[in-house]
Amino acid sequence: MTIAQNLQHIQSTLPETVTLVAVSKTKPISDLTEAYEANQRVFGENKIQEMADKWEEMPKDIQWHMIGHVQTNKVKYMAPFVSLIHGVDSFKLLKEINKQAAKNNRIIDCLLQFHIAKEETKFGLDEQELNEIIASPEFSAMQNIRILGVMGMATFTDNQNQVKKEFTHLKSIFDNLKAQNPVHCNLNTISMGMSGDYQLAIECGSTMVRIGSSIFGGR
Ligand SMILES: *Cc1c(COP(=O)(O)O)cnc(C)c1O
Repeated sequence: MTIAQNLQHIQSTLPETVTLVAVSKTKPISDLTEAYEANQRVFGENKIQEMADKWEEMPKDIQWHMIGHVQTNKVKYMAPFVSLIHGVDSFKLLKEINKQAAKNNRIIDCLLQFHIAKEETKFGLDEQELNEIIASPEFSAMQNIRILGVMGMATFTDNQNQVKKEFTHLKSIFDNLKAQNPVHCNLNTISMGMSGDYQLAIECGSTMVRIGSSIFGGR
């Protein structure tokens, strides 16, 4: 199967309300170009330098999503062009994004990443940290960020019940956040689901799936 065929197949299984992020990390420009020519316009990368290099080379109507862990000192390299930052996992990072967005005279869209998996290694906020952020005057004063929703990664396991529980948890965090109607938010996005679990994620309320290996092959 070609990249174009993989994309077409996956798109045919997605409800219209679900956005497909083609995760192109580690893949060469030629692979991204093939996806672009098959009309894919949303790409996900997990390293800022690699994303910036690809942004320079590729057509400018692509939406670049940063899906990986972000170090605060590197935000400046993507602030001019990034379309959505999925992995906002600390207040410190959000403040830096706000600052760099202001320097670039724009508003940067963000997702708050939550720790929903059992593994210790996965980054993310918990609900207490979320509440501290949205209650803080510093957050209220931010002019250059907009929160579109939440992102999370389930435990890497064959146990479907476990994964379902974690996705359902993320959906409930989103619903609670939305009910509070905080400032600087336009809550419409739940980013959950990868090649191995996106169908289950959609059943649990995902509106944005991040798919790499099922499109571009293994890494
Ligand atoms: C790599 C990656 C993906 C895509 O994973 P696949 O299993 O290749 O679909 C999705 N989300 C994040 C955060 C990733 O780092």
